[in-house]
This record gives sequence, structure tokens and C-alpha cells, in this order.
Amino acid sequence: MRIVFLGPPGAGKGTQAAEVAGRFGCPHIATGDIFRANVAEGTELGRAAQEYMDRGDLVPDEVVIAMVMERLAERDCDSGFVLDGFPRTVAQAEALDRRLVDLGAPLHGVLFFEACEEELLRRLAGRAAAQRRADDAEQTIRHRLEVFAIKTRPLIDYYAHRGLLISVDAIGPIEIVTKRILTALEGNRRPG
Ligand code: AMP
Repeated sequence: MRIVFLGPPGAGKGTQAAEVAGRFGCPHIATGDIFRANVAEGTELGRAAQEYMDRGDLVPDEVVIAMVMERLAERDCDSGFVLDGFPRTVAQAEALDRRLVDLGAPLHGVLFFEACEEELLRRLAGRAAAQRRADDAEQTIRHRLEVFAIKTRPLIDYYAHRGLLISVDAIGPIEIVTKRILTALEGNRRPG
């Protein structure tokens, strides 16, 4: 399965992407996790990304696109992938499309995590307390939700026009949301 998980920060994409990737036996590619690992290791990529992440802004497209294209070239992606947190802009989505056309391996679906802002704010505040993520401070949280609305929301139409969008209610216990996702993907299964 080649799937994209799309949704605002705090919608539970990471937890669900890990679960679904495990079930399908394919890699879970979370761009935020890759960036955080690079920041922790002090790599050049980490240094390039950190200031954007701390502010709650998006890392520039060219940096993210190059990183994801390199990751998709690895052998384990031959069996499919769950992309979590990428694409987040139309330019990123177009770059992904071009790569997948070249490979003759189109996406099976794009899962959109629906959650109201009140619930997102509640979850992100809880995560800030539990994980001490610098980008989960309250004002940064609000900024990330705005960035989502401006830069990432247009991808809902982008993928809806291509017949790939599957909306899932992201509110509820983790196992229930997982069931909704698996049911939605089953209904959408295409050969290949
Ligand atoms: P996440 O863990 O997915 O919420 O990502 C944490 C941070 O990493 C984001 O707020 C961005 O600064 C950066 N990031 C992750 N994925 C992307 C992406 N596809 N495009 C730009 N920046 C990203």
C-alpha cells in the first residue's frame, strides 16, 4: 500500500501511521521524526531544519522534498509506504506525484484526519506537557494550526480532485480510529 496520512498537528497521524504501517508490513516515513532525529544528532539537515521547527514553520520545500525522495529510493519502499506529515504543501505533493509517475507506482489513497480545533488544542497541550516538545508551546501550537490551514489544507482539494481523498473521523479511542482507517482503506483498495 502507498498511502499518505494528511491532517493537522495533534490529529493522531503518527500513532495511527505506525500502527497501519506495521499491519501492512511497510515503512512508516514520518518527516517530523526524521527531522527531530537529525536535530538530536546535530547533522547538517538538523541544523537546516531546527529554526523552522522551533517556530512552528514549515521547513523549506526543497529541503523536505530532497530528503523524502532519497528515503523513497530505499529498497524497503518497494513494498509500499505510509507517508506521515508529507506532503504538506502543493509543491511537495507535485514532487511526490512526479516521482510516483516515474516509478509507475501511484498512491492508493490519502487519508485525511478530521478533528475540530478545540480537540487539537487539547491534545497538543497534553503532548507538550508529556514530551516537552519545543514546538508544542501554546503560541507555537496556534501558529502550526494556522500554517496547516494556509499551506496544507489546499491538499484536501488537490487529492479530492484526483479521487484519492478518504476522510476519517479522528476523534475517539485509538483502536476505534485504527478500525475506521483500516475499513476505509479496505473499501478503497486498488490492485497493484
Ligand atoms: P510533525 O512531527 O509532523 O508535526 O513535524 C514537526 C515539524 O517538522 C513541523 O512543524 C515542520 O517544522 C517540520 N516538518 C515535518 N514535515 C514537514 C514537511 N512535509 N514540510 C515542511 N516541514 C515539515
